[in-house]
This record gives sequence, C-alpha cells and structure tokens, in this order.
Amino acid sequence: MYKKRYILKLFGIVQGVGFRPFVYKLAKEKDIKGWVKNDGGAVIIDFEGDKKNIKFFLLTILNKPPKLSRIEKYSLKALKNKGYKDFQIIKSSFKNNILFLSPDISICDKCREEIFDKDSNYYRYPFTNCTDCGPRYTIIKSLPYDRKNTTMEYFKMCSFCKGEYENPLSRRFHAQPNCCKECGPRIELIDKFNKKIEATDIIKHTIDLIKSGKIIAIKGIGGFHLVCDPKNEKVIKLLRKRKKRPDKPFAIMAKNIKKVKDICNVTRKEELVLLSEKKPIVLLKKKDKKLISEDVSKNKYLGVMLPYTPLHLLLFEYIDYLVMTSGNLNGHPMEYKNEDAIKNLKNIVDFYLIHNREINMSVDDSVVKVFNNKEMVTRQGRGYSPKIIKFNESKEILALGALEKSSISFCKNNYAYISQYLGDIKNLDTYLEYEKTVNDFLNIFKGNPEIIAYDLHSNYSLTKLSKKYTAKKIPIQHHHAHMASCMGEHNLYKKCIGVIYDGTGLGLDKNIWGGEFFIGDRLEFKRVGHLENVLIQGGEKAIKEPWRIALSYIHSVGYKNIDVIDRKIEEKKLVLNALENNINCFNTSSMGRLFDCVSAILGLRYEITYNGQGAIELENIIDEDIKETYNYLISYDKGIILIDYKQIILQVLKDKKSGVNLGEISTKFHNTIIKFTIDTVIKISKDNNLDNVIISGGVFQNNYLLKNIYEKLSKEGFNVFYNEKIPINDNGISFGQLVIANRIVNGG
Ligand code: ZN
Ligand code: FE
Repeated sequence: MYKKRYILKLFGIVQGVGFRPFVYKLAKEKDIKGWVKNDGGAVIIDFEGDKKNIKFFLLTILNKPPKLSRIEKYSLKALKNKGYKDFQIIKSSFKNNILFLSPDISICDKCREEIFDKDSNYYRYPFTNCTDCGPRYTIIKSLPYDRKNTTMEYFKMCSFCKGEYENPLSRRFHAQPNCCKECGPRIELIDKFNKKIEATDIIKHTIDLIKSGKIIAIKGIGGFHLVCDPKNEKVIKLLRKRKKRPDKPFAIMAKNIKKVKDICNVTRKEELVLLSEKKPIVLLKKKDKKLISEDVSKNKYLGVMLPYTPLHLLLFEYIDYLVMTSGNLNGHPMEYKNEDAIKNLKNIVDFYLIHNREINMSVDDSVVKVFNNKEMVTRQGRGYSPKIIKFNESKEILALGALEKSSISFCKNNYAYISQYLGDIKNLDTYLEYEKTVNDFLNIFKGNPEIIAYDLHSNYSLTKLSKKYTAKKIPIQHHHAHMASCMGEHNLYKKCIGVIYDGTGLGLDKNIWGGEFFIGDRLEFKRVGHLENVLIQGGEKAIKEPWRIALSYIHSVGYKNIDVIDRKIEEKKLVLNALENNINCFNTSSMGRLFDCVSAILGLRYEITYNGQGAIELENIIDEDIKETYNYLISYDKGIILIDYKQIILQVLKDKKSGVNLGEISTKFHNTIIKFTIDTVIKISKDNNLDNVIISGGVFQNNYLLKNIYEKLSKEGFNVFYNEKIPINDNGISFGQLVIANRIVNGG
C-alpha cells in the first residue's frame, strides 16, 4: 500500500486540553503510525499512513480539535517514510517559547454525570475534573503546565488516579489537577473561631446553615465568595451592613437555566453565554417576580451565573439560588488564602467552607452582558483570563493599566497577554496584590520587558514599581488608551474619530478629561472637541458626594436658587465659597461628572456608595418612549468644538423646578447627549473626511447611550466600533496602552 509521512506542528492553546490523547485515539482508529508529543508550547505529530486515512486524520485535527483547544497556526512538512510500527505518545521536550495557558474551565458534562453517579469513583467528590474541565490558570505557578508546576503538586496521586493519568485512552490522561477522594483535596466546614464543624454531610449542613440565615465564606476556583440565601431579606440586609456595601447589587448563582429564567428575561444568546464553559456573571434584565429579595439588586439588571465547580453543583442539590459575591472587605482585594480569609472575613461571615487546594492566582468572576446579540465583557476574570491574542510586536512591553479597574498587559513573541481584573489599586492591599500579579504574570510567561507603558496619571506606588525596571518608560494619555484598546481589538490602523466618554483621566493640559472627541490612530491623537470645562470643588470627596458636583455646575451656570440641592445651607455655602476662591477645585470635561450632576439635581443620589451609581440610577428611570431632547449649543475655540453643558443644565433645573417627572428629565438628558454626539461626529467627519468611529470609555456601560449612539451613527453611514472582548471601561486600559506603546516603538 502507498504510504505517506508528514510532520505536523500545532501552535496555540494545545496543551492541558486533551490534545495528545485526542490525536492518539484518532491515530489508532485510522491505522496511523508514528508519535505525538508536547514541545514547549506546541504539539508535534510525526505520522505516516495511507493517503486516504492521512487526509481524514489531518482534517479532523485541524477542523475538529478538542473543545478547549485553539490552534493559532500550524506547519506541515512531508518527509521520507520511516516505517513506524505503532502510534505513541512520547516524552515532552521544551524548545520554543511561545507560551500558552488555558483559563479555568467550568465542570464538563461527563464529570457532572460522574459526581451524581453512585457507582462512580467520583461520586459526590467536589474536586472532580478532567482534561476538558477544571482549574488551570488559578493553580499554576510556572509553565509548562505540568502537575509539579501547579498547587496540585502537594497531592500524591493514588494508584487509581495514576492509572487514569497515564492512560492515553482516559479522559484524565495528563489532566494535571487529576485527583479523587482518596488522594485529592478535601472540604472542611469551620466556624469563625476556626473550629471544625462535624457533620455527616458537610455540603447539606452548609446549605442548612444558609437556609437558617447564616453567611458563609465558600472557597472556589479563584477566591472566596460570600454566600447567603437571596430569599432572606434579613440576611441580605445583614450582609450589606457587615460588608459595608449598602447599595451595590450582589451577583446570584442559580441552580440551572430554568431557575435563571424564573427571575430574569433571558434571550437565546444570553442563554448560550450563561451555559458556556466560561460561566461568567451575565447581566440580565430582571423579571418582576418575587422569588428573591428586591434588595439583592435594586437596578434594572441582575448579575447571574450558573454553577461552575463540582462543589457548586453539590450545594445546589439542596437550594435554587445563592447570593455569591466576592469575598473581600469593601475596597480590598478578594481573599483567596485560607488563613487570610479566616482572619479578614470574620466580621462578615459566620462559617467557612474551605478546602486545601491552594489558589496561586486570585481571579474574580467575569462580568459580561449581551449587546447587539454579541457578548460584551465588562470585567475580565475567571474563564477569560489570561487572554492571549495575536499581536505584531518586536519588543517586550509591559503596560501597567489604570488606577481603577486595573489590569496589566504584556507582549512577547507576537502575542499579547492580558491579565484579569485587578481592582482599584489606590487601596494599598489591592496594590500589593496587583504587584504580586505583575511578578507572577511575568514569571509565568517568562517576560522581561524592555518598555513600560503607563497612564499619565500614575500614583506613588505605580511610579515606584516602574522604577524597578530599567526598561524605557512611555507615558500614555488615558483616553487615547481607551481609543486604542478598541482599535487593537478590531484591528484598526488608520485614522479614526474617537468618541470617549469616561469618568476620570488626566489630560495633556493637566485638566481632568472625559467628554472627548479625538481624531487619532495608534500613534497619536488630536483633541478636536470636548465638553466645555467646569470647575468642580471638593476633589475626591466630590466624586463620592455628587451633590458637590451638582452645586459646582449650578454655580458655573449662574443659577441662583441653590434650594434645589437639599443639604444644610452652611455646607452649601462652604462649597460655593471655595468655588469663588478656587480652593481644592479641578477643571474637568468629564462626561461621568455630568451624569453625577444630573443624578444629584434630580435628587436620586447625593452620595454614592459604589462607582457609577449616579449614572446607573439615572439610566434605571429612562422611559424609552420619550424622544424629546433639550437644546444645546456648540461653539468653537481655535478650531476645537466645545459642547456647552450650561444650556442643558439650566433646562434640567427648570424641568425639575416645575415638577416634571424624573424619568422624563433623565430620558431627555440622555437623548440630548446622543443628539450632540451624532451632530459633532458628523461635523468632524465632514471637516476631516473620516468615517470610522470608535466608541469607548466607562460611560458607555450605559446601554441606552451605547445602543442609540451606535445605531444612529451606523444609520448615518459610519463604520462604528466599540469594545466587545476588551472591556470598554478602565479594565481595558492596559491593552490600549500596549497597542500605543507598541506602535511608538516599532510601528506595529
Ligand atoms: Zn471534566
Ligand atoms: Fe477611563
């Protein structure tokens, strides 16, 4: 018979995802001889067989590889026949250094079946996993992804598990976290004095405690959750009080998709995202049913996810819904080590359900929504991190991200590696966790940056951190980074119009920007328009107390009746006096602040307890049937378009005074922003002959704004791009910095 021999090299996410056993089985089926092995980050297959079988073998590998794998590129070379006698999986070698790593994957269907099968060795075992599922990124300490480089190295496999691990025909062949109840990690229930609670069924006992109104810290894949019963009004109040989180919605985990549909409206696409192996928190429109306490989320939207570990599935045998919120103190990073959690969460929780599989990399749940029938990531975390994408570079660059919703990005060997959400690093504990992640990240991906990119507005800690590297430093303007994050995601290189609506970011003129129209590309930008500056009094305090912002706007528009802000007259006088004398004031063109202002004028929020609360509550009361707008003025200053907020604020004040319905005022305000945005883009486009528009910045987490601006600009004939895979808020800044720095250093 006529035989042929080839060598196939596959690059991408091809390790730790069951690739070699898949190839092995296929080879046996098709009578292919030769071998397969891991080589650094690649899989190499040397094979021979008859022509027809080889064709099938090759096409199956390339077109139907294992579910979790991602082939980035491959090479195929014909060779002289060697006369192999059988097909083998041979020992790994480590040569090339393109490093891939899979995110953590939710439990697969087969493992799910096994944990509910009385005859299975994995019956009710909370750490069951296989090559198709289980922890990856959170347990890894260094690459290659081998057991000895993970936190599973402390567990010696029993003979049963060893057999599975070494059997190419097993689903657990080289599944690095492979274990069973004989040899693997165990759960333990303890009280807050670290005393072990004995129970015949710990999982059922935990749910009994939850049903009786207790709050439990449960250790998961990437860290601890605070867990309680969302039907129990009293315990929700208690959790809010103990966590010092009076308003921000809690996420829910629901037993299954049916239970999700009982409390939320779920589209087909949303269902697919909920059920995907990434299992993110999906922001869904609430239904009016009272199956869970109203106090879980007072907003239109509720964050819901489905169980993603065997432990979750076992807990949900006894309950339909659980509050599952990040296990952290307000403003601090999520706990992920047993000792720390026991120490730091003791004033919040009553019990801990812990286990002894260590988490090396803490990763929060991801938050996504479905927009335009596509998934849009707003917090990149578990299941999505690390994000590894193709990237043309020639120098290693580390981008440090923004101060809030931070993340880091790094590039090497023509790939960009984007970290998980790392929180607000103005908090020292969060910063220390961030610094650890920078080190771990560079260590895992063997990075040695030659360039550091950072926000113009860095704080003391970040400046100190960047000094640790001898690398060249490149400062990057915040809103340019927002714009570039979108350009990078959509592979755009040519000049575009950028509409960046954001909270805070230092501008080139040292003012705070955030209501910006740019013309720019990856290299540079020109500020061609913006919201007119307003002087705001109170610094950081004003951001937490938007009544100060409102009063600052009211002062700047020359409105005399300050009764509209219902605060003590002495307090208001202090602010007005300070404004007159320019004490502790900042100049800003921020769109986020304009939203805060209107929210406070309407009396919705004088003080906020979480980021963006004013704007979210303003969006909550929109009435989509209202189409009116307020009037607004546009002026020019040295060729720059200035959008006058004064007229808008005066009309809002007038409507408020004459008792117009708040929902109507909010809608008219939103409509006005949409209208002036479209008008301004059309103007810029005509003057500059550009028709690609980038929409980015945290304010665009507002669905009504994004939807209308996107649709209306598209209707006008523009090509409109907004962030989908890279967060539109500051969580996407590090990637934007990477894109710009890369263009600056090598024109990529
Ligand atoms: Zn599995
Ligand atoms: Fe921003």
